[in-house]
Amino acid sequence: MRRAAFALLLFPIIVITDGVGLAQEGGKLPKVSVIKAGRLIDVRAGRVLTDRAILVEGERIKSVGASDDVLKAAPKDAAIIDLSKATVLPGLIDCHTHILLQGDITQADYDEQLLKESIPYRTIRATVAAKTALMNGFTAMRDLETEGAMYADVDVKRAIGRGIIPGPRMFVSTRAFSATGMYPLLGYSWELKVPEGVQVVDGPDEIRKAVREQVKYGADWIKFYCDRRYYLEGGKLRSKVNFTEDEMRAIVGEAHRLDRRVAAHAIGKDGIVAALKAGVDTIEHGDGLDEESIDLMVEKGVYWCPTIYVTVYVAEGRAAGGNPIWKEMVDLERKAFGLAVRKGARIAYGTDAGGYSWTENQAKEFSYMVRYGMTPMQAIQSATIVAAGLLQAETDLGAIEPGKYADIVAVLGDPLKDIAELERVTFVMKGGQVYKGETSK
Ligand SMILES: [Zn+2]
Repeated sequence: MRRAAFALLLFPIIVITDGVGLAQEGGKLPKVSVIKAGRLIDVRAGRVLTDRAILVEGERIKSVGASDDVLKAAPKDAAIIDLSKATVLPGLIDCHTHILLQGDITQADYDEQLLKESIPYRTIRATVAAKTALMNGFTAMRDLETEGAMYADVDVKRAIGRGIIPGPRMFVSTRAFSATGMYPLLGYSWELKVPEGVQVVDGPDEIRKAVREQVKYGADWIKFYCDRRYYLEGGKLRSKVNFTEDEMRAIVGEAHRLDRRVAAHAIGKDGIVAALKAGVDTIEHGDGLDEESIDLMVEKGVYWCPTIYVTVYVAEGRAAGGNPIWKEMVDLERKAFGLAVRKGARIAYGTDAGGYSWTENQAKEFSYMVRYGMTPMQAIQSATIVAAGLLQAETDLGAIEPGKYADIVAVLGDPLKDIAELERVTFVMKGGQVYKGETSK
């Protein structure tokens, strides 16, 4: 351990070199710590405060204020975490991930995982994905379906919650729904029983039962695939809707009755409008959003997870595989995003990580959001306070405020000047526990 030269003699100083070990030594952690924040991003007001400190007691934030005041009020044995040279912000939240998927640019990539990898093997990989996400600064994630891995997301969530493995706070949706013949695996001989990427459901009664089943096994969210077969017509991105109106009302109605919210995969305009009319809570991807559907989304207070980077990431490969429309979607989504920002839509940070490899930092989405029309502050808000709103977890997550979980990250530079700085998170605290840290300089 190396002591920082400016150490206040009254306080023990923690100099963290590698938080991974600390994560397994919960018993040795100090109960109270003070984080000195050179710059602190106040996501609620959309401003940067300087020379602040955060008092953390147990897993929650006790107080936030001017550095001297907080230090004076802190117990004498509080540990000091010196981030006075860094920018400190709330833990990042990704509202659209797939920890049980390892990238599926082509259909063959996807089929390979479902046909050749067992659910235990995929779950082992998911634990690595969860750790990767946390180390990249993502302290909470909404994982939007296991792609054939049944309820393994519930198990990963449980293992994280019990401190067995490091990972973000998980909000899970288990299996997702699609109707017969509308989701992979497809194209195999009818003589073969191949795995399904979703829970296949047809008809309102079967759907209600399936919602109950998913809730029984631990689903926090209900997800369904609203559309497929995307095509361009008159400059609009259209699609075929997978369910009848009655079926979609059954999904949303039963989910809401059981206090679960509903996420709809909807890429083309037809799917987006059908999902909004059915009463869903979030639109996933939404590349085909236009003026009219953005207005409807705003009017209904529905959140949008644009997942920009994944579309860019898969576009070339899917175009080469015979689906050139994925390249058009990149341009369409850029236009839709700019328009939605101007119209004040609730845009929550969602990446579809897992749809691309977990070796890609899911923070790359930030740069695209800024390039497409958000200010860096708006992009940060989308992954903190707005995302917490989507999760209905505003009392616990999304800002550095008294009473909330001490989910706090830091970067050395200024992400408001260079948003890509968020791809270089150097400090991660979740629930008052440090998982990644930098020595004070
Ligand atoms: Zn997805």
